[in-house]
Amino acid sequence: MAEGHYQVLARTWRPQAFDEVVGQQHITRTLQNAIENQRIGHAYLFIGSRGIGKTTTARILAKALNCLSSPGPTANPCGTCENCVSIAAGRNIDVLEIDGASNNSVDDVRQIRDNVRLVPSSSRYKIYVIDEVHQLSGSAFNALLKTLEEPPAHAVFILATTEAHKVPATIISRCQRYDFRRVGQDDICTLLRRILDQEQVTCSDEVLLAIARAADGGIRDAESILEQLISYCGQEITFKDVFEVLGLVDWAQLNALCDAMLDKDIATQLRIVEDIVATGKDLSQFVQDIIRYFRNLLVCKTAHTRIQELLALPGHELAAMQQRADRFALTRLIQLIEQFAELSKGFDSQLAQRIALETLLIRVSKVAVEVSIDTVLEKLVQLGAGGVGPVAAASPPAAEPARAGKSEGPPSPPKRAPAPHQAPAQSPEHESASAPFRATVTESNMREAWLRVTEEAGAENLNLGIWLGQAAPAGIENETILLEFTRDQQNARSYLERPENRAAVERILRTLTANLTGYRTLVNGNVPEAPRPARETQPRAAAAHVNPELARQALEDPHIAKVVDVFKGEIVDIKRHVKE
Ligand SMILES: [Zn+2]
Repeated sequence: MAEGHYQVLARTWRPQAFDEVVGQQHITRTLQNAIENQRIGHAYLFIGSRGIGKTTTARILAKALNCLSSPGPTANPCGTCENCVSIAAGRNIDVLEIDGASNNSVDDVRQIRDNVRLVPSSSRYKIYVIDEVHQLSGSAFNALLKTLEEPPAHAVFILATTEAHKVPATIISRCQRYDFRRVGQDDICTLLRRILDQEQVTCSDEVLLAIARAADGGIRDAESILEQLISYCGQEITFKDVFEVLGLVDWAQLNALCDAMLDKDIATQLRIVEDIVATGKDLSQFVQDIIRYFRNLLVCKTAHTRIQELLALPGHELAAMQQRADRFALTRLIQLIEQFAELSKGFDSQLAQRIALETLLIRVSKVAVEVSIDTVLEKLVQLGAGGVGPVAAASPPAAEPARAGKSEGPPSPPKRAPAPHQAPAQSPEHESASAPFRATVTESNMREAWLRVTEEAGAENLNLGIWLGQAAPAGIENETILLEFTRDQQNARSYLERPENRAAVERILRTLTANLTGYRTLVNGNVPEAPRPARETQPRAAAAHVNPELARQALEDPHIAKVVDVFKGEIVDIKRHVKE
């Protein structure tokens, strides 16, 4: 049954006329015009990815050139004459379809050359369709070139390739070049709907959109997915069927995994993995599905229009996605995608590459407020500039967890190792104000609490998050948390002493914790420090003690200028670097 059905569909739906070719009007119209104006070329080059209509168009062109219904080539072949029928079936003796991949030797091409001299037996033209022409060997290309340089009047070559850059320029210059496009979702949906109507199969628009999405611009893929679905489902195709036939992990399972991650429910997460393995599904595929899933969340969070179109999801699924997306911080989503993409790197998938690209694009457009703290700190450490100092190497371990705070979880690409005391209790998601820490902070849980405060602050204001990240909680006094800085971290400390920053942090403390209302900064252990009070409360422009000439020179360094620019900072101190 399935086999038979497949045959019927394939035969019925291969376009037989130029007008039926979907999504390539720019090509079919040009070809039709050329034929009507009797400008027939001897060599055509069809370029484009697989399954988007190159061979189909080549056959229609062959029919147009050799159709017997008119005295010469016609833009509208009849489809019923002997030539049209035999060409459509691939058995016309004057139209030779050659697979360049398996006939790529110089002898193969010489055979074509000898053959091409012979006049066509029952047609106007002898037509050679060479598919995957880029696979020809170098000497085969040379032989082909000789034929293309002096083709017999009755010969037409249609060369098709998915990789035009591998075709020698000498060949390309002899051809009329046509670039086939990936087909738009709307066109694919329209085509699929036509097929379904003919087959009397019903399904929702969302199903069509999902198929078009999976086919990724390929007509042949879209049709073959549809064929599978029809033989699998019969007269009605549901959204769930699409998932099953495409071998995607059940949507509900991904939702459950996402919820478990949000709830930090590790047992459920492991059970889901167990289920995946137990049902014989491929884990690498599962990881791809997870990436796709988080990518959808990211789209929900960042795209403001056309979300439904971008995601191809039914309305109720979309609403549920939107809700989950709201629970993640943007930076966290990007980080998750990067971590899973890193995990799947060995799989060499196009999806992973695409996701990486999309994530980068989103990151770039949000960079002003949302760049990952880890990344920025790493950059700063590399630069060793801007007064942050050697935080990576020299600061005491206590300062480490705060900076690494956002990079726990699955095998993580950032090189920063998670600190020991953060792992289990630490929330994997930055959940914003939706889930305040709200605990009474004591010395036993102050590090965890401080991480949350840092994350929250970072989400609001990147600079604040970065500088807070350098503080090490050192104790609790009444409603105040003591924050320790090393002598190298004076800049972080003075930043946090600015009234506007203090106000912001104290507001976060009051929101996130049950008992803290303020903080006090210390330098190096218990020495209450006040060596530079004037500077600490000065507004940004001050830093008057800095030699303006030195500051000007410093700003000539592009790295320093960049840091000052990115962080809207100021130069508060300049030290001579002494080589050891
Ligand atoms: Zn015909």
